[in-house]
Amino acid sequence: MAYLTLKNINKIYPNGYHAVHNFNLEIEKGEFVVFVGPSGCGKSTTLRMIAGLEDISNGDFLINGKRANEMGPREREVAMVFQSYALYPQMTVYDNIAFGLTLQGVDEEVIEKRVQNTARILGLTDYLDRLPRALSGGQRQRVAIGRAIIRKVGIFLMDEPLSNLDAKQRVTMRYEIAQIHQETGATTIYVTHDQTEAMTLADRIVVMKDGYVQQIGTPYELYYKPANVFVAGFIGEPPMNFIRGTVKGGCIQMGDNVFDLKKKYKDVGKYEGKDIVFGFRPEAIALQSQPDAYAVKANVELTEMLGDNTNVYITSGDKQAILKVDSHDTPETDVDIDFYIPYEGVYLFNAESEKVII
Ligand code: ADP
Repeated sequence: MAYLTLKNINKIYPNGYHAVHNFNLEIEKGEFVVFVGPSGCGKSTTLRMIAGLEDISNGDFLINGKRANEMGPREREVAMVFQSYALYPQMTVYDNIAFGLTLQGVDEEVIEKRVQNTARILGLTDYLDRLPRALSGGQRQRVAIGRAIIRKVGIFLMDEPLSNLDAKQRVTMRYEIAQIHQETGATTIYVTHDQTEAMTLADRIVVMKDGYVQQIGTPYELYYKPANVFVAGFIGEPPMNFIRGTVKGGCIQMGDNVFDLKKKYKDVGKYEGKDIVFGFRPEAIALQSQPDAYAVKANVELTEMLGDNTNVYITSGDKQAILKVDSHDTPETDVDIDFYIPYEGVYLFNAESEKVII
C-alpha cells in the first residue's frame, strides 16, 4: 500500500475557479516528489490540500490507506516550509528551531539534544544565539527547514523554499536539501517552477499545467520520454526545438531541408496532409556527418558562449532552432553550417493533440 494516495483530487475555489482537475498520485514512504509547472498551474493548491490548509473539493486523500480529507494538519503529521521563511524575528535561532517542541511541552533536555542535532545537520551550530535579522537569506531558510525537520513528522512539504535566495545560494541549498533528505529519509513533496530544481532533487516529478497533470515520471523518463509537447518543452535547457509542418509525401520541411519521416516512423502515412510537430533537443545533434541522421543546412544568426558549450541560434527558411555545441566548435555568425540530427534523437508529436507519437 502506498503511504500517500491522491485519488481524483479536485479543487474548486469558492469563487468557482477550478484550480486542480482529477489529480491522481501514489507516493511511497521516503520518496522525494516534486510538483513542477509554470506559475498558476495548481502546484501550491495541491500541496496545501495535502497539508490540510485547503479543503479538498472532491476526491480522496489517504494516508496509509486511511481517508485523511477531514484530518487537521496536526493529525496528518506534516511539516511545511514556506517561501517566506516565517521565522519569529524576536526569537533566537535556537528558539525558532525549538519552537514546535516547546509548544508540545517536550522535555528541555530532549529539546536541547534535538536542536543541537538539527543545527549540526544544517550547519547552524555557530548561529544558535543569533536573531534571524543577523542571518543571510540562505541561513534563514535553513532555520525554517530546521524548524520543520526537528519535528520528525511523516511528511515534509516545501513550497518554493529557495525562491528568495540568489542563484549561488540556491545551488548550495539545493544540495543541502538533497543531503537532508538522504539523512532523514522523510517523505518529501516539493513545489517549484524551476525545472533544474525538479530534475536534481526528485525521485519522481509531477509536471502540471493549467490545473492538469501532464506527466508523472523520473527525471530520466521526463527527459527521454516526454508525453507531450508541453513536457518536452518544459524539461531541458535550452528547450527542445519544435518544427511544425504539414506532412507531404511522408516528409516535412525545414527551409530547404527535407526530413523523410518514414526513417523515424514507418506509419507516417497516417499523417499525410496533416500537421505534425518534429522535435529535437539542442544537445542531441552532431556537427560531423553520421549514418541514421537527418542532414540539415542552416544559417547561424547568433552564438552564446557559455563556457563548456555554446548555444547556436539558427534559421532555415521561416524555421528557427537552437543547437548546443562544444564551445571549441562555436561557428561564425552569418555563415551556413551543416549539422546532423540522429533519428533516435527525434520526437514526433500529433500537432492537434500535442501528444507524442514516437
Ligand atoms: P501555483 O502554485 O502553480 O503557482 P496555485 O496553486 O497557487 O498555482 O494557483 C492555481 C490557480 O488557482 C491560480 O490561477 C490562482 O490564481 C488560483 N487561486 C489560488 N488561490 C485562490 C483562491 N483563494 N481563490 C481563487 N483562486 C485561487
